Amino acid sequence: MSLSAASELPAFTHGSTVPRVPHHAGLGAELAERHRQRALYELGDNPLLERQRQRESNARSYPRRLPLALSRAHGVYVEDVEGRVFLDCLAGAGTLALGHNHPAVIDALMRTLHSGLPLHTLDLTTPVKDRFMQDVLGALPATFARHARIQFCGPTGADAVEAALKLVRLATGRGTVLAFQGAYHGMTQGALTLMGNLGPKAALGGSLSGVQFLPYPYRYRCPFGLGGDAGVAASLAYIDNLLSDPESGVPRPAAIIVEAVQGEGGVIPAPVAWLKGLRGLATRHEVPLILDEVQTGFGRTGRMFAFEHAGIEPDVVVLSKALGGGLPLSLVVYHERFDTWRPGAHAGTFRGNQLAMAAGSATLAVLRAERLDAAAAELGARLQQQLAAHAERFACIGEVRGRGLMLGVELVDAAAVPGAVGARPAHPELAARVQRECLRRGLIVELGGRHGSVVRFLPPLVITAAQVDEVARIFGQALAAASA
Ligand code: PLP
Repeated sequence: MSLSAASELPAFTHGSTVPRVPHHAGLGAELAERHRQRALYELGDNPLLERQRQRESNARSYPRRLPLALSRAHGVYVEDVEGRVFLDCLAGAGTLALGHNHPAVIDALMRTLHSGLPLHTLDLTTPVKDRFMQDVLGALPATFARHARIQFCGPTGADAVEAALKLVRLATGRGTVLAFQGAYHGMTQGALTLMGNLGPKAALGGSLSGVQFLPYPYRYRCPFGLGGDAGVAASLAYIDNLLSDPESGVPRPAAIIVEAVQGEGGVIPAPVAWLKGLRGLATRHEVPLILDEVQTGFGRTGRMFAFEHAGIEPDVVVLSKALGGGLPLSLVVYHERFDTWRPGAHAGTFRGNQLAMAAGSATLAVLRAERLDAAAAELGARLQQQLAAHAERFACIGEVRGRGLMLGVELVDAAAVPGAVGARPAHPELAARVQRECLRRGLIVELGGRHGSVVRFLPPLVITAAQVDEVARIFGQALAAASA
């Protein structure tokens, strides 16, 4: 059956006796009201946190800075077991495009559960999977989707990155991959080789090879000491030279992998001119271009995919996070000419999560119907403007940046002398204090970037203008308290 014929199939029909979700009715309003009436929170210990500390691995990460035991959530709000309500600008590290427990997602999950569908199908197809594939292809640019193949991967973003690496290495017969300084592609061994941050790799010794790192166009801390358009041009010239020079020391690579907005690296949007230039270089040197849209995908940056800001198309795109509507799911979507792997060349047990596919389809439907990509652009601009206003008052703000609802504020040592391109040294201690002061005021934000000095905002795309204003207001108060 052709793809177009499949897309004309009727939607999968579910059982009719599905309970609605009465337990959620009114929860959003209740949490919003309780958030409005909150007092300054004292952040102490409780038995759940204590047991977590005693029993969970030393590698646990978020609970160290966000010591919360969560009980209920709706929309942009989460409540902890002590009845405190927080506005969640972490949202599952950018996973929850529709926020917590969106009725459309809950409804899709309930309907699927009550339909008798097998919940786990390896990579066998089902009506839910068939629908989901059409929905994902429908979200991608039509020119890309027309020739696309989909590889269902294990459930995480890193799993899809691993699959993408295998795909391009098999298709090109080459080994080296070009990645970028500041990049984050996940924590499995292969994905870790692509990571800019040396911290998580240091203890693993020399096992991480086959990757050549390139400078990313980080305007505030330009790796060429130039900044602006000159920094962009220098970066492209450097990559061009590396790919052209027979004595560059770098074999022709299997791929270039890039985030159109570096997330964990510090919310650094690549300039449009640079992305266009990179696409041109990859084509000219016959190197497949992988866009990692795990964090940026599905409306987050104000377009359905971040590469669309530059009007470019990838050869391979890696998807996860929002893809499964909050449930674990990941995909690699690529041009059919790379589909050279043999049957079973990439496998894995958990590639058939039907609930995640149903939740993903429901999420995509709401995203499209409510134009949440456009909302992310508008509300992101609103938040960015208010954060930039704080930068006028607080000298410790080095830069406010981002795209759509993926924003970062880089905190610096205001007393230090600026470097060649005007950047002051990072201030990780201040960033940690700001994060804590936000939490005490009922706002969850995450830190990222060089030395963990960038405060990150990744709210659900369903956040309202009033909630955006509240986020900016709390952040301003936290800055004042943390810098006092
Ligand atoms: N790629 C990017 C751009 C990411 O931001 C992340 C996670 O934050 C990953 C890959 C890895 O995804 P996961 O944590 O699901 O393995």
